[in-house]
This record gives sequence, C-alpha cells and structure tokens, in this order.
Amino acid sequence: MPWNFDYLIVGAGFAGLTAAERLCRIHHKTCLVVEKRKHLGGNAYDRYDDHGVLIHNYGPHYFRTNSDRIKDYLSQFTEWHPVDYNILSHTGGTYWKFPINLNTFEQIIGRPSTSEEMEAWLEEKRVPIENPANSEEVIISQVGWELYEKFFKGYTLKQWKRHPRDLDASVCGRIPIRTNRDDRYLREEFQALPKAGYTRMFERMIEACGDSIKILLNTDYREILPHTSFGRMIYTGPIDEFYDCRYGSLPYRSLRFENESFGAEELREREQVSGKPGFWQPAMQVNYPNEEDFTRIVEVKHATGQQCANTTIVREYPDDFGPGKEPYYPIPAPDAAALYKRYKELADAEKDVSFIGRLATYRYYNMDQVVGMALAEVDKIQAADA
Ligand SMILES: Cc1cc2nc3c(=O)[nH]c(=O)nc-3n(C[C@H](O)[C@H](O)[C@H](O)COP(=O)(O)OP(=O)(O)OC[C@H]3O[C@@H](n4cnc5c(N)ncnc54)[C@H](O)[C@@H]3O)c2cc1C
Repeated sequence: MPWNFDYLIVGAGFAGLTAAERLCRIHHKTCLVVEKRKHLGGNAYDRYDDHGVLIHNYGPHYFRTNSDRIKDYLSQFTEWHPVDYNILSHTGGTYWKFPINLNTFEQIIGRPSTSEEMEAWLEEKRVPIENPANSEEVIISQVGWELYEKFFKGYTLKQWKRHPRDLDASVCGRIPIRTNRDDRYLREEFQALPKAGYTRMFERMIEACGDSIKILLNTDYREILPHTSFGRMIYTGPIDEFYDCRYGSLPYRSLRFENESFGAEELREREQVSGKPGFWQPAMQVNYPNEEDFTRIVEVKHATGQQCANTTIVREYPDDFGPGKEPYYPIPAPDAAALYKRYKELADAEKDVSFIGRLATYRYYNMDQVVGMALAEVDKIQAADA
C-alpha cells in the first residue's frame, strides 16, 4: 500500500520543520518529513557529548532576530536563555577584542583613548573607495591595510580558500567596525538560545503536530518516492542535486570539527587564561586569523549557560567539499551565482515543488531568515490554494 500525504518535505532542518509544523497545525494537512541524517534539526542540531556537555554539533549557532513574528513563532516551542555572544581574535600571542572597536584600538596603541582619536587614526589609514566591490575593498575602505591584514585577510583565505578580492563585499562587510566600546558581534535586538537546546525545540514542534506528521530519519527522499504519493513537495536539500547536477555541481565550503574535552582539574590550570573557573578560553568564540590552520575555537558552554565543572572546545577547520562531506557554505562569488541562476530557472518552472532554505536557494541565511522564508512560503501556498 503506498503512503499518501498532502506534503512531502525533504529535510528536517529549520526550513522543513517550520513548514511542516504550520501545514499540519494551522492548515490541517498531513506531512511526511524525510531527512537523510540520523537526527532532526539540520545544521542547528545540538546534543550532549560523551562528557555531558551540550554542544552544537555542526558549529556554533547563535540565534538572533529583529522579527517579533519569528521570535513569537519559535517561543511556542521553547523558552529562551538570553546571551551576549562574545568573540575575541587571537593573533601574535594576544587575545584582541573583536569585532574592532575602541577597546581593540586601545590594545593596539597600548594606552587609553577616545572615539575621536580612533576616528582620526582610521581616517588616516582608510583607502578611499566609493563603492567597495569585494571583501578586500570593503575592509580597507573602513580600516586600511594594517587591520585588514591582522584580522581579516588570513581568516577569509582560510575560510573560503579564495582571496577576499574574489568574494562578494557582503562576506567581510557584515562584520561591524565601531569606534565606541560596543563589542557585540551581532546587531540584532533579540539574541538568545533555546533554553533546553535546539533539538528539544524541534522535538516539541513535531509533538505539537500529533498524528498529522510522520518523520523518517536516515533516509534519502529518493528512496521513498516510488511508494509515496503526495500533492506537493517542499524541498530544502541542495538544488543542484534535485536536478542530478545536470549543469555541474555548485561549489561549497565544508568544515571539519575537532572536539577536545577537559575535566575540572585541567581547567583549574587554565583559569589564568580563561579568567573564570570551569572554562578553557576567555570567550565563547576565539577567531584565529593567521598562525593556525583552524579558523576558530568555540566553547559553546559560555553561551548555553550549562552549569558543569568540565567543558568541551571545538576547533573548526575549513575544508574542501567533496564526497562524504557536508555542504556547509554556498560560495558567495559571481561564478557560483551564475551557475545557481541556471538551476533557479528550472526551479521557477516547477508547479508542485517549493524550494526553500539555505541549500535549495544556494544562499547563506541565518536561522531566523530561514524560519521567515518557511512561514512566508506556507502563506503563499495557502493563498494560492484558497
Ligand atoms: C558552521 C555554521 C554555523 C552557523 N551559525 C549560525 C549562527 O550562528 N546563527 C544563525 O542564525 N545561523 C547560523 N548558521 C546557518 C544555519 O545553519 C542555517 O540558517 C539553518 O540551519 C538552515 O536551515 P535549513 O533547513 O535551510 O538547512 P539545513 O539545516 O541544512 O537542513 C536541510 C536538511 O536537508 C537534508 N537533506 C539534504 N538532502 C536530502 C535528501 N536528498 N534527502 C533527505 N534529506 C536531505 C540535510 O541533511 C539537512 O539536514 C550556521 C551555519 C553553519 C554551516
């Protein structure tokens, strides 16, 4: 007997689960969600590791949004733990305040200063470029060559394996540069993590749907197509794979994560560096722009607020994408955009398939943007059906 659902949803990340929850609960549809990984949540999946520390499995996920609609929507499924996401940059043996602000400037000149002095200093260093066209230009036009080389160039080369000159201005341009003491990495009004973790939030989204939803993990959707009938597909996987890569594969950057755990005893010896008991480093995230092969070390316990005497840190190594690797970051460069455009033309002609989320639209989106996209898509489908 074939399965019969109103919707087949490919991918159980933010995009797929938001769409499924709305369709089941608000529009009384049935949804089959198929996920090829062994767990819910896509890249936002978190879990307790073997040492009992809550970690973000695929790199740190800092939730933030300016949208009340998105915050209120997710708040049905979680309480929140407010966080100031704090970041440092480590190079030349020093932990620098980051993103660049007045405190960083004082570290550079080795004495107290003022916003006016920093403004004047930057004014001398800036390279005048009216419309910065790439990531190198966007930074040198704000801070000049010295700070670009100290904090941005090496990091970007490692992360993307492309010169900042060959990357869209938005890649480095989204990192704030300030002349006051505001050292928040992110600008959004609401910054918090789901109190019991992302995975628990996703479970609650599914629980709210009752019998209208079926979740199949560890399954590629192509395996179940022959015995499943459905009215419409919502696809959140890679768009090129949907079309069997007929125009060639879209380029991605991948990542390799190396976890290391420390017990209470070892952490006592680190207190001089971390500045507080139970932690390995002084901030949730430390960037390593220059000397090391990894780009950052994340100790997410700073942000989750978990109370435990031990900790886990994660070193993040950028990696080429290929067989067996996850496609983490679409490449924000003109050649990749041109190839995506060809796939998008095919997607636009589909009548019964929606393409949403970061892989299906080949664009780096934050989690809240993906939730917004899924909510909007469900509204659009329902309006068209009405
Ligand atoms: C390292 C890293 C750090 C990030 N940090 C942040 C952050 O701090 N803040 C923030 O807001 N955002 C962050 N993001 C972005 C965030 O991960 C995304 O916005 C969000 O996860 C996108 O959700 P999605 O559902 O579109 O995609 P995904 O989470 O990738 O979900 C898509 C799912 O589809 C599944 N799938 C693909 N093909 C198939 C198939 N053939 N059959 C079945 N299933 C399939 C995949 O396995 C995947 O689980 C980060 C991303 C990365 C990579």
